[in-house]
Amino acid sequence: MSWQQRIDQALDARRAARALRTRTALHGLPAGRIGYQGRRWLNFSGNDYLGLSHHPAVIRGWQQGADEYGVGSAGSGHVTGYAPAHQQLEAELAQWLGYPRALLFISGFAANQAVIHALMAKDDRILADRLAHASLLEAAALSPAGLRRFTHNDPASLGRLLEKPLSGQQLVITEGVFSMDGDQAPLAEIARHSQRPDTLLMIDDAHGAGATGPQGRGSCALAGIHPDILVVTFGKAFGVSGAAVLCSEALADYLLQFARHLIYSTAMPPAQAVALQAALGVIRSPEGDALRGHLDEHIDYFRAASAGLPLTRGDSHTAIQPLITGDNARALTIAARLRERGLWVTAIRPPTVPPGTARLRITLTAAHTRRDIDTLLEGLAHVCQ
Ligand SMILES: *Cc1c(COP(=O)(O)O)cnc(C)c1O
Repeated sequence: MSWQQRIDQALDARRAARALRTRTALHGLPAGRIGYQGRRWLNFSGNDYLGLSHHPAVIRGWQQGADEYGVGSAGSGHVTGYAPAHQQLEAELAQWLGYPRALLFISGFAANQAVIHALMAKDDRILADRLAHASLLEAAALSPAGLRRFTHNDPASLGRLLEKPLSGQQLVITEGVFSMDGDQAPLAEIARHSQRPDTLLMIDDAHGAGATGPQGRGSCALAGIHPDILVVTFGKAFGVSGAAVLCSEALADYLLQFARHLIYSTAMPPAQAVALQAALGVIRSPEGDALRGHLDEHIDYFRAASAGLPLTRGDSHTAIQPLITGDNARALTIAARLRERGLWVTAIRPPTVPPGTARLRITLTAAHTRRDIDTLLEGLAHVCQ
């Protein structure tokens, strides 16, 4: 088969399954809106849970950072790309989350790949939740360690796998809040099972950090656990982008030696680190508490009011509120009809989610108003008739 045939065949298969992915160039606007071709939509698909992507203090932080440092880091952190802004942000994150060290990465995807590739060796075993994010599962599959996936959110399934004999070390991986279902992992029980001399626990809290827990410290603070490795990302509730790995002194020093995603990649722009310091400032402050309170009210309201819709709901108490259609075509049709009514809701289809569980992945944010949520509920009731 030629390259051309191979590529055409793969695209044709995606089209036939109504699973072809395309992108739309959208203009992010304040207050949970997006612009497209001169029109405005209510955005119920973003991950900007606190509305910080347009917060004046965060924008000002980026501008002041650019004035002070220029727009780029001009190198890997190991060469000349590590600035006082990075150092200060790492120190603040470590203090906020109660770890000796934090290391910045340009994305959550890179952080997950880096940690897993740097740690795992041939005789080791990774035990990951079956529904863990693609960045985790892909790194695990590509690592020299064995990969076993435990039943979603089932500590007993994890416990059985942990007991199986092996000669190397084990790494347990799960998420605080699952990105496509919005459900939360039973972190206390998972941490209890993972308390073994041969095991490290890694929690990816991309959707929990900033959005939940005391001072916005996320799912682990909420559950009262302290995993060996905590990954937080800044493209969601922080409203910016980037990520950090929180860990011990020794593990941070180890990652600085062996994490190729840090060593051979340009560091995050220092101006972005200044913006992230501003976002963290909001998240930790009483204003952050108010934004989380507002978001929680929206979540409760939406859950109560969406119970009557003829779509399957997940068991989510977070900002991610999926409505399962099952069928790809139905998800696409509902999304298109909502769009006609000024509501931007993206249909998520396999392979991002398991086969037969296509869905509307609705996300609520503190930037929405009660009236916006009512508009969404009216739209859903209308198009699902
Ligand atoms: C979004 C996400 C990531 C990737 O983070 P980026 O910073 O967007 O690369 C990793 N893990 C989970 C669970 C996510 O939802």
